[in-house]
Amino acid sequence: MSSYDDRLLELLGKLKLFGIRDRLESLLDEASRSDLDMRQTLTLLLEREIARKDARRIEMALKLAHFPMVRDLTGFDFMAQPSVDARQVRDLAAGRWIANGENVLLLGPPGVGKTHLAIALGREAILAGYAALFMPATALVAQLARAHVEGRLEDRLMHFAKPKLLIVDELGYLPFEPSAAHLFFQLVSRRYEKGAMLMTSNRSVGEWDAVFGDPVVATAILDRLLHHSHVITIRGDSYRLKEKRRSGLLQKTAATEPKPHTKD
Ligand code: ADP
Ligand code: MG
Repeated sequence: MSSYDDRLLELLGKLKLFGIRDRLESLLDEASRSDLDMRQTLTLLLEREIARKDARRIEMALKLAHFPMVRDLTGFDFMAQPSVDARQVRDLAAGRWIANGENVLLLGPPGVGKTHLAIALGREAILAGYAALFMPATALVAQLARAHVEGRLEDRLMHFAKPKLLIVDELGYLPFEPSAAHLFFQLVSRRYEKGAMLMTSNRSVGEWDAVFGDPVVATAILDRLLHHSHVITIRGDSYRLKEKRRSGLLQKTAATEPKPHTKD
């Protein structure tokens, strides 16, 4: 390798153009094979650099989001869940609500795909360039309560107020202690109209008084959450149970009938 090449690699490193630096040889080969002129070659190199930086950013943001499982929108079977409006979900996936600091509530019984959709929308947010953080509701309030006791509440509130999208999963599976409800209220007010929140809950909004223990705090929280919000209420049976039943049915009918029909 000539010293000229060494110099080029060094310059690319200084500019942190590692995507070009690490594949310089093969990118230049590709350019000459395709007969690209100087401008086209430069465009190719920069496009590849940006593609690599984007891929890295997404990979890092997905790690920081702490999603509990890998789920996306293409993996969601809208046919199996007719109570969900696919158009509304795809519209939310475009991310305007996140830019505007609005909220999404996903409500419904266990197993209907609330967490799946929450992760899928969080993933879309990350692809669009936003930071997202997924927190189970109980872990979130436990962390706030501990920070409060240890005199670091401000720190924790800042931590949870930072990502442009905060997903709070399974609100209402356990009722909050009155002090926890108040801590949660502080977080909601801090994010209000600045950062988007997505919450999933097995309780209807009318039951949130019971979740937060105190009707005054519940009203204050709901007031802020519902002000700019999109509510998706999912009905129906647990997807997993339905799948099990369906496969059970298919096996049974396959043995007795040539043309199996599922009944659900
Ligand atoms: P919830 O949070 O409402 O209790 P989950 O989102 O955890 O339910 O769903 C339970 C499981 O079923 C998950 O593995 C999820 O991916 C899957 N699931 C639920 N609904 C659907 C659907 N409509 N299409 C594909 N998978 C689904
Ligand atoms: Mg869930």
